[in-house]
Amino acid sequence: MLAQEPILRLGFFLGILGALLVAERLAPWRVNRPLGARRWLHNIGLLAMGSVAVRLVVPAAAMGAAFWAQSREFGVFPALGLPLWATIPLTVVLLDLLIYFQHRVFHALPWLWRLHRVHHADTEMDATTGLRFHPVEILLSVFIKMAAAVALGAPPEGVLAFEILLNASSMFEHAAITLPPRVDAALRQLIITPSLHRIHHSERREETDSNFGFNLSVWDRIFGTLRREHQGRLTLGIGAYGSPRDQRLDQLLIQPLRD
Ligand SMILES: [Zn+2]
Repeated sequence: MLAQEPILRLGFFLGILGALLVAERLAPWRVNRPLGARRWLHNIGLLAMGSVAVRLVVPAAAMGAAFWAQSREFGVFPALGLPLWATIPLTVVLLDLLIYFQHRVFHALPWLWRLHRVHHADTEMDATTGLRFHPVEILLSVFIKMAAAVALGAPPEGVLAFEILLNASSMFEHAAITLPPRVDAALRQLIITPSLHRIHHSERREETDSNFGFNLSVWDRIFGTLRREHQGRLTLGIGAYGSPRDQRLDQLLIQPLRD
């Protein structure tokens, strides 16, 4: 499985992105898209720059950290002698909990919010919003995941499964789709659905500071940050960074430096 890693990642990424872009036409949420497909170039361009930055700065990334820990039997899982069938799902769930808190910290600390704000300033929302993160935020996320992989002694298979799942769930929860109400209600019990995550992209700060989860919705429920409804009509984005020019790749890159 690990030998096929790049193919697996790319296959899931393109397959799920393609399926969601089709689903957004078949069962759309809001059909008004003033910026059209141009937006995709800028959002995916930002993802490409983040991927290049990781390749240049920490090419081994979280998987490399997991291999390093594995070769030295370092970390909590080896110390407990847990078998692979237990450590793979544990890695996925614990990394999901970690990024729930990472996400809360990125909202709480002003200098990290400047980076994460680039993601929130998208005035439209679709699957490509789930790819729009500032390269520095992507790098910081990789460092955090590397530290976690070493501390846990997480198996590389678990880290890979988590990263593929996170990429898929990020595109899914930002997708401009409307799920059948009963399906949405059932899924919400376990995972963050698009209707829940859209509340997180509201212009209202108290709504933005809720529904922090990426995969499981249980963390928001346990830690009291789950919000099931938004007030009035949902306005997406951040007004001060909401012009069409602000959505350009060059402007997204410098946005953290702006006041
Ligand atoms: Zn956020």
